[in-house]
Amino acid sequence: MKIFLRLFLYIAIAIQLSAAAEAAKKPYVLIISLDGFRWDYPDRGLTPNIDQLARDGVRALSLESVFPSKTFPNHFSIATGLYPQNHGLINNRFENPFTKEIYRVGDTVSVRNAKWYRGEPLWETAKRQGVRSASFFWPGSEMNLDYRRPTYFKRYDGSVIHEARIQGIIDWLQLPENLRPHLLFLYFSDTDTQGHRFGPDSPQINEAIALLDEKLGLLRRKLAEIGMAGKVNIILLSDHGMTQLKADGLILLHKILGNRKIKISGYGPLVQFRTSGQKEKAELFNLLEKNQKGYTVYLKEDFPAHFHYQHNAFIGDIIAVADLGYSFIRSEKELQKVLKRKPQGDHGYDNHAMDMHGIFFAAGPAFKKHYRCGTLHNIDVYPLVCRILGITPNQKIDGLLERISPVLK
Ligand code: AMP
Ligand code: ZN
Ligand code: ZN
Repeated sequence: MKIFLRLFLYIAIAIQLSAAAEAAKKPYVLIISLDGFRWDYPDRGLTPNIDQLARDGVRALSLESVFPSKTFPNHFSIATGLYPQNHGLINNRFENPFTKEIYRVGDTVSVRNAKWYRGEPLWETAKRQGVRSASFFWPGSEMNLDYRRPTYFKRYDGSVIHEARIQGIIDWLQLPENLRPHLLFLYFSDTDTQGHRFGPDSPQINEAIALLDEKLGLLRRKLAEIGMAGKVNIILLSDHGMTQLKADGLILLHKILGNRKIKISGYGPLVQFRTSGQKEKAELFNLLEKNQKGYTVYLKEDFPAHFHYQHNAFIGDIIAVADLGYSFIRSEKELQKVLKRKPQGDHGYDNHAMDMHGIFFAAGPAFKKHYRCGTLHNIDVYPLVCRILGITPNQKIDGLLERISPVLK
C-alpha cells in the first residue's frame, strides 16, 4: 500500500514539474505602440533606450502603415492583419450609409460596439487557443463581447500616467501562471499629440520622443526586476508617422462646392462623398477635378489598387486625398477653428509616403540580434505574433508571414 502511495506521489510531482517546465517555455509577446512615432525619430540622437532595443534585437527601416494612415484603422490592422476595407474601421470616424449609424473615436458607445469590427484580432485568436491576453489600451480592445476582447483590458483613459500603464503590464506579468497573460498590449499617445500641435520638427516633439524613450527604459528595468527581461518578446512599433502642415495648405472645400448640398465625410487629409446617382457623381467629380490643387480626387472604382481601399460599402463614391501638408476644410466655422488653433502636423495621407511610415523594433528570445532590415508592413505583425506564440493564425488575412519572418531567429 505504502509503495503505491509513494509511486502515486512521485507521479503527481513529476506531472507538476513537467507542467511548470512547459509553462516556463510558453512565450510572451508585449506589443508597445507609440502613436504617431515617425520612422526617422530614432535617428535624432534622443533615444538611448530604443537604440539599446535595436542592439538587442531587430530594427526595421520603417513600418508602412495602411491607408488611411490614421490611428484606429492602423491599430486594428496591426491587431488583425487585415486592410481597413476588410476589418471595417475605414477611418477614425465614418458612417454606415444604410443605417446612418456613426462610428467615432471618442464615442464610447460606438467604439465598444462589436458589430463595427470585422476579422479576428490577435487577442481573439489567442483566446480561442487558450492563450490569455491583456491590453493597457488598444483601439478595438474594448468590444462589448467578452469573447472578442482581451482576457484583461482597460477602458481608454488618456489621463492615466505612463508609470501606471507600465505598472499595469508588470502586475499582469506577476500573476500566477494559471492567470498570467502571454500576449500584452501597451499604448502611449504623446508623440501624436505633440506632433499635431507643434509639428514633427519642433522642440516639443523632441521632448515627447525623449520622454517615451525614457519610459521604455523604465519598462525594461522593471521587467528585469521581476526576472522577465530575457523572457518577453518586445515589439515596439507605431501606427503611422506625421508630416509638417504647410502654412498655405488649406483646401477650402466649401468654396469649391459653393452652395451645393452635399455631405462631406472626413476632413484634414482625406474626404469622401456619397452621391445620389451617376449624374451627381459625374458632376461633383468633374468639379473637384477641375479645382485639383493640393489634392487628388478619384472615383471609388478608380482608386488605385495599392491603397487597398475600395471593397467596402461604407467607403464613399468619390475619394479625395490631400497632398502631404495640405488639409481639407469643410466650412467657414471649421476654417476659423483651424486658424485659431494652428495645428502644425497631421497624418492620414497616402500611406506609401515616407512621412506616414512608423517604426518597428523588436527584441527577445524569438528575435534575431543586431538585425537591421528594410521597411516592414504593419499587416504582417499579426501572423508574426501568432508564429511567436505558437498559435494558428486566422487564415483569412492580408498580411504575409514570409514577408516579415526573417526577423525571427
Ligand atoms: P488620431 O490622431 O486622430 O488618429 O487619433 C489619436 C488619438 O486617438 C489619441 O490622441 C487618443 O486620444 C485617441 N485614442 C487612442 N487610442 C484610443 C482608444 N483605445 N480609445 C479611444 N481613443 C483612443
Ligand atoms: Zn495614431
Ligand atoms: Zn494623430
